[in-house]
Amino acid sequence: MVKDFERLAPPRRGEWRSLFHEKEQTFDDYVARCANRRSDARSLLVLQPLGSPELGRMADYAEAFFGLTVRVLPARPLFDPAHVPTRDQYNSSMVLDELAALVPSDALALLGIADRDLFARGKPYVFGEGSLERRVGVCSLARLSTSDRPLAERRALKLMTHEIGHILSIAHCVTHRCVMQGSNTLVESDGHPLYLCPADLRKLEWNTGVDRDARYRRLEAFYGRAGWTVDAAWAARQLKKRSVLGRPGEG
Ligand SMILES: [Zn+2]
Ligand SMILES: [Zn+2]
Repeated sequence: MVKDFERLAPPRRGEWRSLFHEKEQTFDDYVARCANRRSDARSLLVLQPLGSPELGRMADYAEAFFGLTVRVLPARPLFDPAHVPTRDQYNSSMVLDELAALVPSDALALLGIADRDLFARGKPYVFGEGSLERRVGVCSLARLSTSDRPLAERRALKLMTHEIGHILSIAHCVTHRCVMQGSNTLVESDGHPLYLCPADLRKLEWNTGVDRDARYRRLEAFYGRAGWTVDAAWAARQLKKRSVLGRPGEG
């Protein structure tokens, strides 16, 4: 039987963890170093389309996943100075610098979503980059497209939630199958789940105060509307476990 939350086996060659030896970020590490926590003054999740990416249901999903109000800003073009004509890509660190100046004062996080390809120093391309300190991140849908539309959408949703997780100071997950696992390639990230492992969910709950049951109910409804029955059943199972076990502080 496949467990709902699986611990990671040692990485295979070429996988993210085989190349980058990141330390586990425990809950205590997170609480001690979290640079960006929700407050009454900073509670919005802001999405900034860069170019004309197909956002589909991304804003709805972000609202369900994080339990925060989402504001989608009017689209704007990607920033010219970040464009490198010889490789026809945009420098993600420069895009981040430009986006940092656009973060509204009431935003907990701003994520730029680009329709063009990004790269970072020393890397031929990046899917995204999120700052653990500056309330800002950027990701690109350019490499996610495929004729399998549900797969393309899953990829976009994973990428978005992963990068927003970083903006909320959550580091890469090295312990469990989790949407916060680092990935080098699409094949690797396609193998990652949509959900947060229990350790990272606890960080999100501490940060935003999101109610776990309400969150799983919203996710179940979202997956149901998308026709993703396996994911909807997964969310429903988490709710059921909770009602069997009781909620913390009860009984
Ligand atoms: Zn990452
Ligand atoms: Zn995790």
